[in-house]
Amino acid sequence: MSDYILLPFQFKYFDNSVLLVNQVGEYTFLEQEDFTTFYNGRLDIASDIYKRLKGQHFLTVESEKDFTLKLLSIKLRTKKAFITDFTSLHMIVVTLRCNCSCSYCHASSVDLDTKNYDMNWDTAKKTIDMIFQTPSNDIKIEYQGGEPTLNWDILEQSVLYAKFLNKFAKKKLGFVICTNLLSITEKQLSFCKEHSIELSTSLDGTKEIHDKNRKSRIDGSTYDTFITNSKIVKEKLGENGCSPLLTITSTNINKLRSVIDEYVKLGYNTIFLRALNPYGNAVKNKNDLSYSIDEFVNAYKDSLDYIIELNKKGINFVECYTALLLSRILTPFSTGFVDMQSPSGAGISGTIYNYDGKVYPADEARMLSRMGNDYFCMGNVNDNYKDVFNGKIIREIVYNSCVENMSMCSECVYQQYCGADVIRNYLETKDLQGYRLNSDFCKKNRMIFDYIFSLLKTADEELLDIFWSWATRRPYGDLKLEKK
Ligand code: SF4
Ligand code: SF4
Repeated sequence: MSDYILLPFQFKYFDNSVLLVNQVGEYTFLEQEDFTTFYNGRLDIASDIYKRLKGQHFLTVESEKDFTLKLLSIKLRTKKAFITDFTSLHMIVVTLRCNCSCSYCHASSVDLDTKNYDMNWDTAKKTIDMIFQTPSNDIKIEYQGGEPTLNWDILEQSVLYAKFLNKFAKKKLGFVICTNLLSITEKQLSFCKEHSIELSTSLDGTKEIHDKNRKSRIDGSTYDTFITNSKIVKEKLGENGCSPLLTITSTNINKLRSVIDEYVKLGYNTIFLRALNPYGNAVKNKNDLSYSIDEFVNAYKDSLDYIIELNKKGINFVECYTALLLSRILTPFSTGFVDMQSPSGAGISGTIYNYDGKVYPADEARMLSRMGNDYFCMGNVNDNYKDVFNGKIIREIVYNSCVENMSMCSECVYQQYCGADVIRNYLETKDLQGYRLNSDFCKKNRMIFDYIFSLLKTADEELLDIFWSWATRRPYGDLKLEKK
């Protein structure tokens, strides 16, 4: 019998073995027999298993207890560093008008000529003033809509005003415009180039799929315009000046391999496999667009296998959701992803300012308000910064989104890599903590984690290298060359 102390960890039985994850996200697999020996305190201190578990902080000894706990607390602080970066992502909805009418539009955009849905200069200026009160040294301003380029004058003025304020604040300041590229002009692109503004766009797959999902409010094929304009964007802003996001609906869920091929063909090297969210038009058109979580996860697994095959063939291509989870699983670093942090990143990592000056903790909260429920409104840009960012809503969100003490999550082996989506919980259950037993969010994450860990458990060196390259954001080709 050895004399050692067990440190906190979660575990689950996993394919005839046991998966263990400790409080700072380090994981290991043990044979069931070894697991029993371990938790009964009977491991031989000369054994490899004992040394591995001690090195990974699943156990310690009395003489090293204080040191181990200090080390663990440093690792935990590193993992949760996003909390101290309060608030870095600021999204501004400069207009709700849009030249597109996507079947799933979460934002519930309005027609081009609808009045009173544009942000005015007074609100835009107050928004930038409020953003610059953030304690974060890192400010990313992301313009959203509707189609934000339709209110270009306000967008342009607000960029210039933010840059003016930053002459005094001296923060790390960046800009992104989320645009469908349908009406972007050369003049606008020149402004983007001059001010290092990145573009984020949307591409749902082949012409047939894209045109079906994303209909123009004016005329013609949105795919054709996207292709023409994305070429101009690349010429002006460079190969990586614009990256697309995919929305998965029933239209493309069974064709994701061809969607990935389309991304590769157009020179993009990332894709984000996102499930449809239950907001806006996605709810109105639910019968035509939705699918079950099992269907989504099966499509995700098949796509991931396909992307891994592409990497093995020498094509650098990354699935961003897997890359995010791998960063959490394989590295000690903090990763931001508003919808899946503990506590939730809503309000403390990202905030959204609506065209009318109302402030929300997340895009989904703004979408919920478009559906008639303003529960998550934190205040207005006319209010005092502290009243908005230290108010009731943000406190409620933090209080209700620490997975470490939420039912089911507190015992879940994936707790350290997962998080809470309070707005989705509230939408589905009217309870900010929600119910994991029948939560699609939880089911999807559990199934995806199961798959990633099954791959990690049996991974050969090549697959591990691919995963490490994703987790550390380095092209797999470069990593291979470094190893030679
Ligand atoms: S999803 Fe975007 S591009 Fe499509 S209608 Fe909505 S705001 Fe416009
Ligand atoms: S949401 Fe589900 S998968 Fe995530 S930690 Fe909670 S129980 Fe685990």
